[in-house]
Amino acid sequence: MIVLLFGLLFGSFANVCIYRLPRHESIVFPASHCPSCHKPIQWYDNIPVLSFKLLQGKCRSCRAPISWRYPLVELLTGSLAVALFIKYHFTFFFWMYALVCLVLVIITFIDLQEQIIPDELSYGLMVAGTIFSFFNRELFLQIIFYFPLALNRLVASYVGLLVGGGILYFIAWISRGGMGGGDIKLAAGLGAFLGWEYTLIMLGLSFLAGGVVGIILLITGLKKRKDPIPFGPFIAAAAITVILFGEPISAWVSAHLFG
Ligand SMILES: [Zn+2]
Repeated sequence: MIVLLFGLLFGSFANVCIYRLPRHESIVFPASHCPSCHKPIQWYDNIPVLSFKLLQGKCRSCRAPISWRYPLVELLTGSLAVALFIKYHFTFFFWMYALVCLVLVIITFIDLQEQIIPDELSYGLMVAGTIFSFFNRELFLQIIFYFPLALNRLVASYVGLLVGGGILYFIAWISRGGMGGGDIKLAAGLGAFLGWEYTLIMLGLSFLAGGVVGIILLITGLKKRKDPIPFGPFIAAAAITVILFGEPISAWVSAHLFG
């Protein structure tokens, strides 16, 4: 219950970032205001999900509709926090992946709306990933067993970063712009947390999901062949899948794809 509330509050913060980061506004000041009438929002109208329901999705003073994105993002971060808690309890991994998931939700919605992934978020992931790597016992690299453990993890983190960024960079290069710089930096940042093995699985899943959704969008006529489809949300969804279900997926991949 506490975890859910915590996740919902994370969602409120995510909403602020989704709105303000692409506009280059400060995320701490001023306090939340209605984007339509600019009246400050009182704390009792800013309670995750509940306020949206009570206000029937409209601003209290000007009645302008409030975007569905707000309760959706809050429910998303709320359920992610619960899922992470079920897997990791209150360990170091819970906090580390809660931070990663928060950034991924923010990136997903910014990329969907603006077709960009803010550099500060991807660079933030790269820096945080390398710092966290010292405590990240899921990162391992057996080849350099003679290094001290912490150094092994740091190297493993950098290898993940290079694998994630490198593969997408290569695809961007051969496809001549089919992949954006934002996607490359995002995959590199996630690679620093996940290590090379999970990064490869993450990229595989994101291409699979992107391909399937792309074909559906083309068949249903929602998108035309030349329309850009943001790839960031697919990377984000694949990364969250790997964070939550990495072990069974990795076991399946090694059993079925590599005998
Ligand atoms: Zn208003």
